[in-house]
Amino acid sequence: MSERPHGYARYKLDGCRCYTCGWAVAQYNDTRDHARRRGTWQPWTDAEPVRVHICRLQSCGMGLRTIAAAAGVDRKRLQGVITGRPERGTGPQAKVRPALAAAVLAVEPTLNNLAASTVIDATGTHRRLRALVAAGWPQHHLAVRLGMTDTNFSAMLRGDRVVVRTARAVRGLYDELWRADPRQHGVDAQAYSRARSHALRLGWAPVGAWDDDTIDNPAAVPDTGAPQQLSRNERAAVRRKEIGHLHALGVSDHEIAQRLGMEYSTVRAIVTELRTGERRTRPAKDAA
Ligand SMILES: [Zn+2]
Repeated sequence: MSERPHGYARYKLDGCRCYTCGWAVAQYNDTRDHARRRGTWQPWTDAEPVRVHICRLQSCGMGLRTIAAAAGVDRKRLQGVITGRPERGTGPQAKVRPALAAAVLAVEPTLNNLAASTVIDATGTHRRLRALVAAGWPQHHLAVRLGMTDTNFSAMLRGDRVVVRTARAVRGLYDELWRADPRQHGVDAQAYSRARSHALRLGWAPVGAWDDDTIDNPAAVPDTGAPQQLSRNERAAVRRKEIGHLHALGVSDHEIAQRLGMEYSTVRAIVTELRTGERRTRPAKDAA
């Protein structure tokens, strides 16, 4: 699968939360907010930020027609912003109406408006499916409902990426099932408890550990509220993962220790260990 360069599209689509991606998006959001504010008190506003934003959205695989629809503006008007109207002998517009700028700048690439075949990060998809298994939905049952074979289903659950079409289908299924009792929907008691214990054994977070704001955010950790159900080894694995997440976000070892209520030396040792592991698998990428 093709690797996107670190930056806006990689942050939005691949869920990359590395320093480069985070910086690119934060800086970009600042500039964009500035452009939006400036537009509110002038009859015309600079077209450049609008052009840049359209390019960003296009880098996420969104076509002009989709962008126009999401912004609620006519596609020809966007064409005027990007290339002008060659048939009328005009180049790209220098100024646009603030309303047009505001409408376009407000468009974000989301699961709803990305193209169905766009490849994106699978984090939210995995969490939804795992949470359903934890609720007692057998994987086979979920696969059938998604129109997938068991083989494709388990491959999807192992892969880091999914296509938007699949992510949307899983989100729809999750919204439909998360509150339902599997035993009242054709799942027998044995399959129900097998699914639940499978999820528990693998430490799959239940529905209650997520909300709409966190479930698609790769940096979010599940709010399980019941760590005593996990064994010592499982707890240690969860901790390592949390530390890895925070470290990747650029949080200092001291702060990680404070946030997780751990000894600094322990955090330090785990971070060193994780980084050694990284070096072993990706020797060329090591900058730190
Ligand atoms: Zn990145």
